[in-house]
Amino acid sequence: MGRYVGSLCRLCRSENLKMFLKGDRCYSDKCAFDRRGYAPGQHGQRRRKVSDYGIQLREKQKVKRMYGMLESQFRGLFSKAERARGITGANLLIFLERRLDNVVYRLGFANSRTQGRQLVRHNHFMVNGKKMNIPSYTVKVGDVVEVREKSRKVAVISDAMEAVVRRGIPAWLELSKEHFSGTIKAYPTREELTMPIQEQLIVELYSK
Ligand code: SF4
Repeated sequence: MGRYVGSLCRLCRSENLKMFLKGDRCYSDKCAFDRRGYAPGQHGQRRRKVSDYGIQLREKQKVKRMYGMLESQFRGLFSKAERARGITGANLLIFLERRLDNVVYRLGFANSRTQGRQLVRHNHFMVNGKKMNIPSYTVKVGDVVEVREKSRKVAVISDAMEAVVRRGIPAWLELSKEHFSGTIKAYPTREELTMPIQEQLIVELYSK
């Protein structure tokens, strides 16, 4: 499956949002968005007039990029959100949060979602005591996500566990640092998801 291999900082700059895609670097003075907070390219500093469609499209692209997803995966998740009970936009964000690569990041076992995805793919985690290497796996309430015994000394994981203090663990997750595990206590509510996202714009875009 294809994936984006370009500069992650360029994505933050083109979406005009600090999306924290690179772990440690995002908190340092090397952050490209802090240094050059305008769109990349020759005309990046020009003001552009954006249509309604353009605004909706940018919002969708922004969320896709935050979670590192491709269009087909994102569209699939949107259909799932439409079929689920409740408000489609909120459902979409909650499904995104329930992806295993995101949970690994939120629990502080990885410094970014990209790193979380890579670690999951490389077999460093178990869910409910079973090996799980599918980043898009959707966690359920009561699931226990655990770093495998053999992976507990992996430097990337231990570094991330120390660094998580600066962003904290969300209330819907419970971390047991000594057991290298985390439990899904509940699903996040829309109010708990504080990233600046206007999900209604994505619903409008896909409803055209
Ligand atoms: Fe975005 Fe992080 Fe790059 Fe800053 S360092 S521009 S937050 S990916």
